[in-house]
Amino acid sequence: MKYKRILLKLSGEALMGENQYGIDAARLDQYVQDIQKVQETGVEIAIVIGGGNIFRGVDAEKSGIDRVQGDYMGMLATVINAMALQSALEKAGLYTRLMSGIKIEEVCEPFIKRRAVRHLEKGRIVIFGAGIGNPYFTTDSTASLRAIEIEADVVLKGTRVDGVYTADPEKDPTATKFSNISFQEAYEKGLKVMDMTAFTLCQENKLPIVVFDMNKKGNLESIVSGAEVGTLIN
Ligand code: UDP
Repeated sequence: MKYKRILLKLSGEALMGENQYGIDAARLDQYVQDIQKVQETGVEIAIVIGGGNIFRGVDAEKSGIDRVQGDYMGMLATVINAMALQSALEKAGLYTRLMSGIKIEEVCEPFIKRRAVRHLEKGRIVIFGAGIGNPYFTTDSTASLRAIEIEADVVLKGTRVDGVYTADPEKDPTATKFSNISFQEAYEKGLKVMDMTAFTLCQENKLPIVVFDMNKKGNLESIVSGAEVGTLIN
């Protein structure tokens, strides 16, 4: 296997599948199958999941909700997704732990680095809910930060697009995909890989990122075993 410990970032929006809101059972099921395949190879897996399918802090402002309050609502949304994912993984027979950036003692453990690493070493899938627990951050920054803390080999950013393009492929049909690119070049070209906080954290800590299409079954396993899928930023 190319990587021994991975941090998988799943967006909340991808979890909606064909729906406009919430969690699509079929999509969740596919994710579980993909994660299970990788887990069976002995690779240690940590997961950060977004909350965009339920709530986003920036959207709250439009409805008159204070930004900070909205961000906490967004963090709670990620916990809902994390709980759904945890439950689905356990139904498939996998061992998991849910760690939260904010205290929700009845459902999650608090995030403690050493404990997270221990869970991983024991083969448990660790899900990080509630982001980093601070407003004005995103789950992308959470993915970078937690990956660095637990010393993951890579951040695998699962999205609906299959990599980083010269322009938005959903808008510009002439856009072409990079199979790999350096942090510096991605920055200079102004390409959207992750938000700047997340991007800089990875760059400064020499943590590679792979952006790939998580909705295509088998992609996750291919990447972990070394295939060139998506775009590698390093
Ligand atoms: N959020 C936050 N701090 C964090 C992580 C998330 O305030 O550390 C809030 C923020 O409001 C964000 C929302 O949670 O809009 C949902 O997360 P995100 O938008 O990153 O989810 P995704 O777009 O990946 O589904």
